[in-house]
Amino acid sequence: MTGKTHVAIGFAVAVAGGHLMQPISLETYPNLLLQEGVPSSVLIQLLAMAVAVWVGSMAPDLDQPGSTLSRDIGGPLGRTKTTAFVGGLILLYLATRLPATLSFMPYLRWGFLVVGGILIMMAILKHRGLTHSLLGMGLVCIAVHWGLLVLLAEGVSFANSLFLPFLIGYGAHLVADGFTKSGIAPLYLPFVPMTQKHWHFPIYIRTGSYVDRVVLRFGAMFLIIVGFVYWA
Ligand SMILES: [Zn+2]
Repeated sequence: MTGKTHVAIGFAVAVAGGHLMQPISLETYPNLLLQEGVPSSVLIQLLAMAVAVWVGSMAPDLDQPGSTLSRDIGGPLGRTKTTAFVGGLILLYLATRLPATLSFMPYLRWGFLVVGGILIMMAILKHRGLTHSLLGMGLVCIAVHWGLLVLLAEGVSFANSLFLPFLIGYGAHLVADGFTKSGIAPLYLPFVPMTQKHWHFPIYIRTGSYVDRVVLRFGAMFLIIVGFVYWA
């Protein structure tokens, strides 16, 4: 399934899911924004939650060099497995060599470590393997949760409200890929071939087909609008 369709589906599920979970509701924000004197922190939180849905919706395809998020995060290094591997090693090496004299260096070092690590994973992982499984989702959630705790400690007060939007995006991606011809292996375990057999729902589509690029993508966008209008 294409990245844009995944993002549209992720947002559609987040809007519906947000309605069911009022405290983290995405669709109550338009109301808040219409009120006078909305603190800019609410706007920033809304944007951050949207980014979390967007990243979560595309994160599983980081196992595929050339995917939208792979190129967004890795730039030219995210194009192929070779560039990802070499670039990842260089970034990890640079992270250990950065002089600690400038105040922003700790952030730069963390940036290099995270992007370098993601690039190495991109080079090593098989497409629609670990990242498209429940085990992979659990591991990614632990990493993201830890990252958000670091943000919280750094003073980003709404960091804990970003976990669920990310999880919704990620989960919706896996379910959506279950409706494609290549399917996914939800119980995938590394080195256990019998768990790696791909599986799809009885109804499925082809990636890049008209149904993928038009019907599902615009259908999901329509649901997002309906969700906002209906619940606003
Ligand atoms: Zn995928």
